[in-house]
Amino acid sequence: MNEVKIFCPASVANVSCGFDILGFCLDKIGDEMIIRKTSKPGINITKIVGENLPYESKKNVAGVSGISLLNELSTDFGFEIEIYKGIKSGSGIGSSAASSAGAVFGINELLGKPFSRKELIKFAMKGEELASGSIHADNVAPVLMGGFTLVRDINSLDIISLPFPKKLFASIIHPEIELKTSDSRSVLKQKVPLKKAIQQSANIASLISGLYTEDYKLISRSLIDVLVEPYRSDLIPAFNDLKKTSSNNGSLGTGISGSGPSVFALSKGEKTAKSVTSEMGKVLVPLNLKFHSYTSKINSTGIKLISSR
Ligand code: ADP
Repeated sequence: MNEVKIFCPASVANVSCGFDILGFCLDKIGDEMIIRKTSKPGINITKIVGENLPYESKKNVAGVSGISLLNELSTDFGFEIEIYKGIKSGSGIGSSAASSAGAVFGINELLGKPFSRKELIKFAMKGEELASGSIHADNVAPVLMGGFTLVRDINSLDIISLPFPKKLFASIIHPEIELKTSDSRSVLKQKVPLKKAIQQSANIASLISGLYTEDYKLISRSLIDVLVEPYRSDLIPAFNDLKKTSSNNGSLGTGISGSGPSVFALSKGEKTAKSVTSEMGKVLVPLNLKFHSYTSKINSTGIKLISSR
């Protein structure tokens, strides 16, 4: 095998009460990448379509993640990468994670799979570190492993795949504004009151329980973020209206996707999710703001091979 074409899905991190530790993988929304073996050692990014991103390997998350993998193995050949962006960079639905995971997944396939999907997270996190300035796996873990993932500890790669009810669907609204991860990190408080920490722990614990037991009502009661959303929501246009509309149309809960500006909602059933997506979109129309909207099932497979030769 000398060349692979892969689909690199978008993802939602944080999921309200799971700041920096919880994420899930989206379906159909994503990038494509072509990765091929070359005689020239190292990583060469030869094509980027759809976004204006750096070609220099050390400045592109795909290059950084790929180099981190190659540092662990010695090969006398290298890899060429083509990136076809379907996810806008800085959207909050894991644009950088799609490329970081894509590079290491593709290279691993071409090397005969020396690493498991979980082991690849270690290398993909290096790309995330370049994109956001902090090392985290809450996007790359669901992209590589599929479904919902819980990151207990990044150093020991203690990452757990969670079950989820099959009728769970996501709505995504991506308002086209620029919101830098560094800005949305800077509004966060470094110290939190004990009472709020207890509330947040209770919600994340009960959300996980709701996912295991397929208890939609418990999932709904648990999708509350008392630590981050109160500070970040001001950065997102009409966030409170979006949340109210989503709830009025039957969603289980609504929150900020990653560090924003995208907003996600979870619903029981595709029909409800589609109406939540469309009604949330209507909230942004009077603001004269361009936006993208998607309804997606939870992608249980994660990143995948489209073709190889
Ligand atoms: P998102 O949540 O959508 O991933 P981030 O702010 O975390 O957004 O990451 C986007 C940042 O990563 C931008 O500064 C972008 O220039 C940088 N970047 C580098 N390479 C890539 C890539 N291949 N895909 C997306 N973003 C990249």
